[in-house]
Amino acid sequence: MKIIIPRIIISKLFEHSLLEDPDECCGLLLGNDEKVIEIRNLNNVHDNPMTRYEIDNKDLMKAQKYCDNNNMDILGVYHSHTHSQAYPSPTDIGKAREIKDFFDPYYILISLIEKTRPIIRGYKIDLDSVTEIIVEHDGEAYISPTMNF
Ligand SMILES: [Zn+2]
Repeated sequence: MKIIIPRIIISKLFEHSLLEDPDECCGLLLGNDEKVIEIRNLNNVHDNPMTRYEIDNKDLMKAQKYCDNNNMDILGVYHSHTHSQAYPSPTDIGKAREIKDFFDPYYILISLIEKTRPIIRGYKIDLDSVTEIIVEHDGEAYISPTMNF
């Protein structure tokens, strides 16, 4: 299981996370098959946005309609953890399981524990397990050139 996130969208994930910090940000990754094509930043409507997130159902319905009209799916739901690692919390897992019958995206976590080195991880949350998925980007990994001083 994997999700391919183009690097321009990875930069937007980091940007959104850092702009909302110390609150958690949230939003959607839209695309086809495994490949993300668009990112949709949403408002975190939870009363305690520093430690929880909640997506407005109206936003979700709007995004679903947009996807239906443009031959895309909601591939992923993302949110940031500003004070913890990029692993789904018990609350995150419980919520995902509650709605799984009608909404079963990948869950993408961005950790801002190190602000200059954010971490992205993705998960498939099933009723009896949580599996990390592979998060890939388009293009080659950067390899730093050998420097001679
Ligand atoms: Zn969380």
